[in-house]
Amino acid sequence: MPHDQILRDAQLTKAELTGGDLEVFSPVDGALIGKVATHSPADVEAMISDAKRAFETWREVPAPRRGELIRLFGEELRAAKDALGALVTLECGKILQEGLGEVQEMIDICDLAVGQSRQLYGLTIASERPGHAMRETWHPMGVAGVITAFNFPVAPFAWNFCLAIVCGDPVIWKPSEKTPLCALATAKIFERAVKRFGDAPEGLLHVAIGHAEIGEVLTASGDVPIISATGSTRMGRAVAPVVAGRFGRTILELGGNNAMIVAPSADLDNAVRAIVFSAVGTCGQRCTSLRRLIVHEDIRADLVQRLKTAYASLPIGDPLADGTLVGPLIDADAFEMMQKALDTAKADGAKITGGARSEVAEGGYYVEPAIAEMPSQTDIVRRETFAPILYVMGYTDLGEAIAMQNDVPQGLSSCIFSTDVRETERFLSAAGSDCGIANVNIGPSGAEIGGAFGGEKETGGGRESGSDAWKAYMRRQTATVNYSRDLPLAQGIKFDI
Ligand code: NAD
Repeated sequence: MPHDQILRDAQLTKAELTGGDLEVFSPVDGALIGKVATHSPADVEAMISDAKRAFETWREVPAPRRGELIRLFGEELRAAKDALGALVTLECGKILQEGLGEVQEMIDICDLAVGQSRQLYGLTIASERPGHAMRETWHPMGVAGVITAFNFPVAPFAWNFCLAIVCGDPVIWKPSEKTPLCALATAKIFERAVKRFGDAPEGLLHVAIGHAEIGEVLTASGDVPIISATGSTRMGRAVAPVVAGRFGRTILELGGNNAMIVAPSADLDNAVRAIVFSAVGTCGQRCTSLRRLIVHEDIRADLVQRLKTAYASLPIGDPLADGTLVGPLIDADAFEMMQKALDTAKADGAKITGGARSEVAEGGYYVEPAIAEMPSQTDIVRRETFAPILYVMGYTDLGEAIAMQNDVPQGLSSCIFSTDVRETERFLSAAGSDCGIANVNIGPSGAEIGGAFGGEKETGGGRESGSDAWKAYMRRQTATVNYSRDLPLAQGIKFDI
């Protein structure tokens, strides 16, 4: 499909695509696909004021009615799925099936948030005082700033946005400077839902376009009580202290360095499929991509051989074309980082297969996914390189494998392939994986929205999407009501006057 048609189908106008100062290049072929206007810090301050005004109205709209707006957003997304999915592919380079899958995730979180809008429940708690009732209530919190990364240009926005809106919080979205078009197109889809809804206040969603400085305005503002930031650990290290310094709340979704342990009893056919999908899917540019394979020595040679065979036949190519499984890296910097990591691994004693540039389209950075057979888990393996490099290490004892899996600074996703329940339960136990996500007999990537998504350690500790993640967008209030004629104090304290 020609680039122009994708931009037209996404209903982006000529004015939006020309004349701005932010150049947007497609990783498909390096073509310039837009020159988008950026916002100034003063623009962002104005957005914050506007969103604060919207909050004053929106917080009093009954939550199920707020859910109706997200129900309509879900309908509009269904209608726009093909157009937005293709734009995701054009702007960030993931294959079309994954672009469409990302929009499907937005639709799924809409459904979840609509149900959640009728379940923002608290507790009733037994009071120690006679004639008293105690309860916990969840109230809207205020404006939420949502900062997102290039590799999932729309889904993590929706995980935050849909819950924030049903919880009563307007959102200011600062998308990656590499993927502003997806954000502009998504905002238009939401506008259509607002129109059908009828009486929503202005300013429930603002999109703030620009580089890190624009995100910094949000993180510094005392009028933005929630900052949800998805991106590198480097970004999290800058954002977290600023927000903590003003006692704001952060939801941090940062880098991962995800592993799979493959035990001797594993179903190797399934393991190979899971490894290939999670190591080379999205060209290794998922926060949950498989980066480390920790395989039992008894099956190591066999498994590595099977992987090399599978890698040799991977269709690398135009992500918009049918049949492609591996699209491009986002840009030249990503390619350089991959090459540097491979050089370091080689110097550490790795045997490397793949990793070379693949000449698919001149301006695109296509690569052969690499397998690096390591003598041990060296420093480079313990770092997240955002590219399709699979480091392979051996083990003989499960305790050693779990220790190796946990011995990295990041704690996002993990998994084990084994048919031995003693091994799988140990992996899931308190002494097992230290990650926010731990899977058995499936790969580390491709989470469903029903569960809470996020990870520990340098991944930041945030949780988004399903389970009770909605609580992060609300403030908890404990209320005690005295319906007696006396005033007994707690803890039996006497304070008679
Ligand atoms: P990045 O950190 O370069 O940028 C992410 C966003 O943060 C961008 O919008 C950027 O402009 C903004 N930003 C950067 N510095 C900032 C600052 N000081 N203040 C405010 N905003 C700032 O990340 P990227 O290259 O776009 O994405 C890749 C990274 O994101 C990888 O590390 C990946 O693991 C991570 N990621 C994590 C998750 C998750 O859920 N854990 C999901 C997707 C991506």
